[in-house]
Amino acid sequence: MSETLRIPDHLLPADGRFGAGPSKVRREQLDALVAAGPALLGTSHRQAPVRNLVGRVREGLGTFFDAPDGYEVVLGVGGSTAFWDVATFGLVEAKAQHLSFGEFGSKFAAATTKAPFLDDSSVITAPPGTRPEAVAETGIDTYAWPQNETSTGVAAPVRRVQGADDGALVLVDATSAAGGLDVDVSQADVYYFAPQKNFASDGGLWLGLFSPAALERAARIAAGDRWVPDFLNLQTAIDNSRLNQTYNTPSLSTLVTLDAQVQWLNAQGGLPFAAARTADSAGRLYRWAEASPVASPYVARPEDRSNVIVTVDFDEGVDAARIAAVLRSHGIVDVEPYRKLGRNQLRIATFVAIEPDDVSALIACIDHVVEQLL
Ligand SMILES: *Cc1c(COP(=O)(O)O)cnc(C)c1O
Repeated sequence: MSETLRIPDHLLPADGRFGAGPSKVRREQLDALVAAGPALLGTSHRQAPVRNLVGRVREGLGTFFDAPDGYEVVLGVGGSTAFWDVATFGLVEAKAQHLSFGEFGSKFAAATTKAPFLDDSSVITAPPGTRPEAVAETGIDTYAWPQNETSTGVAAPVRRVQGADDGALVLVDATSAAGGLDVDVSQADVYYFAPQKNFASDGGLWLGLFSPAALERAARIAAGDRWVPDFLNLQTAIDNSRLNQTYNTPSLSTLVTLDAQVQWLNAQGGLPFAAARTADSAGRLYRWAEASPVASPYVARPEDRSNVIVTVDFDEGVDAARIAAVLRSHGIVDVEPYRKLGRNQLRIATFVAIEPDDVSALIACIDHVVEQLL
């Protein structure tokens, strides 16, 4: 069906990308890519220009997250999904506990549960739109959960598990949270993410801030007799990262646009700036949804609502898929809900690259479309 509903031009946001990832890339990042072109793109990742770039990214992230003493920024190829297998092989000693309250938490839980060399994982689930709490359990050496469940828009605190066994690690999937949600990294042993969300770059890389305990665990497992595929070998990634390299070839353009975003964030005021900006954008949406006669925030508990992914349910009388289609025909893209959730919903990213005023413009566009549909 071709769209017949029109939104007046003056209501449209300057940039229509509100997707959960890959997400909006700022113009300045593309300028950085063009500028880096001749000296960097198409050159060896084993030589100084690219290694200096990797070094700047690692340092810039350490600054942004105010990395505690001894924490190291480690990176490897394959994105966060690859990191679940890297961690299964290289960080979980015998048994993990996972919080599963959406697509992403459940995927990591499945990875450790399937590993024949690990005990069956303890998986604590909660229905979509809510979240469970980690519970200390004897014999658990690794606790894992996402800080932001991108499929539902539920945010979970990053904090150590009271009463956990000595030496148990906390692994936080911050793929969609890092760079946009506030965090005290000392509360996690591995705070890992990929660059295509708040860092507004492209996919294909994983990065993590590793505590001394996590580095020690990785070294111990690597020295043992567990078979680990070379590509997924965490100790190899750590050794390469310390040399500002990766085991195999990374996407150089991803590194350039990531670096541009990290430098921009640090120049704007770092994590406090980022967290305030996403809170501003998300707050505009939540306040609007709460006041709307036809929409409401999907996540019931205000303290669980994410500042980087906002999910909004619509009443039966308003077809959210139609709203998304009208928006898409005007260049406002990727506000469809997470496919497996199957709700009459819009999911809107409020990542740090997105202008809060564009979020306000999006709200005006949605209101305009809803008026036409009623
Ligand atoms: C996007 C996302 C992932 C997957 O990242 P890839 O880089 O595509 O593997 C994992 N976890 C969360 C929370 C995400 O939002």
